[in-house]
Amino acid sequence: MKDKFLSELEQLKRISQKRELAEVEQAEHPWLYKNGKRLLNLASNNYLGLAGHERLKKAACDATDTYGCGSTASRLIVGNHPVYRLAEEALVNWKGTQAGLIFNSGYTANVGIISSLIGRDGIVFSDKLNHASIVDGVLISRAEHQRYRHNDLNHLESLLQKAPLEKNKLIVTDAVFSMDGDFADLKGLVELKERYNAILMVDEAHSSGIYGPQGQGYVHHLGLEDQVDVQMGTFSKALGCFGAYVVGNRWLIDYLINKARSFIYTTALPPGIPASITEAITLVREDSSRRETLRDHSRFFRQELVRLGFHLCGSETQIVPILVGPNEKTVLFSEKLQEIGIAAIPVRPPTVPENQARIRFTLMATHHRQDLADAIAKIAQVGRDLGVIQ
Ligand SMILES: *Cc1c(COP(=O)(O)O)cnc(C)c1O
Repeated sequence: MKDKFLSELEQLKRISQKRELAEVEQAEHPWLYKNGKRLLNLASNNYLGLAGHERLKKAACDATDTYGCGSTASRLIVGNHPVYRLAEEALVNWKGTQAGLIFNSGYTANVGIISSLIGRDGIVFSDKLNHASIVDGVLISRAEHQRYRHNDLNHLESLLQKAPLEKNKLIVTDAVFSMDGDFADLKGLVELKERYNAILMVDEAHSSGIYGPQGQGYVHHLGLEDQVDVQMGTFSKALGCFGAYVVGNRWLIDYLINKARSFIYTTALPPGIPASITEAITLVREDSSRRETLRDHSRFFRQELVRLGFHLCGSETQIVPILVGPNEKTVLFSEKLQEIGIAAIPVRPPTVPENQARIRFTLMATHHRQDLADAIAKIAQVGRDLGVIQ
């Protein structure tokens, strides 16, 4: 039996898709250390640079000091510490919804929300590039899974037209797509969900903290907060902490507390986490300069790479992929970048379609413009050496 697993690993290695864990230090900063080597960090989701922020660290330490390390049980048993109430109050206040709920991670939130809202008798309409946790949520729900072509609302509408009227329908999308860095057409999705009587769920993992007047997310940026039924997002990326949220009407949250198995059957996050979440929300609301700097950096970085001739997969955000194509060349590109001081991740199938392997750069508000300019020159050099650009 062991041979089967070993030969699968061998096969992954042959096609340059074997993943390995490497030890990384100081990843919360713009410069990190990998195997002792100092690299410009163009690889984390710590977009606002808050993961290393003194106020977040202090909030987590203080709560841990006062209340202990573990939460001792699930929230419906004895794990529902007052720090949770404070964090959920801060969340609801920020989002302007009736209610909100914290999940242990974005992955468990998506799995729990989707499988609660829809079952065997329902249909989920999901963008082909949605995050894997959404795909897994649909699988667990046992609903029919209809995947529409990326951002193709004509395709989505043709699928909605064919669906039986009496079936429950859920449309789900990332707000910002994690591998392409482009936006979903939320206005168009709202129109369709109203026309076909579907529930609309938006995953703001890569947009919370960055868009909207107080960083509430892309839904708020477009003023669609009253039209989107389920707003989900994470605290693990731009907010620099851990965990995830869902906000919406009171009935939605009450329903999830009663039905979402990934909420019910797991130990609550340790008290230090909700305490840091409260602090992160406060920081994001009061300081818009980080998201402005991030957007400036991102625009600069994208413009320069386009000018050099790279193909950016439609990126409009702080997630900036450059298309390379074949797996081996993409891995080589990333290794060469690492040799000259840049950490950037090669993304290969099955995360992206075959022959669309890419290097995914992610920016931080705490990067210095000069470091980014230096990085662009190095990326151009490797791109020319490998024939990705002229
Ligand atoms: C990262 C991510 C998640 C998962 O969030 P975690 O808190 O890391 O579990 C869910 N959805 C999207 C779109 C993501 O990018």
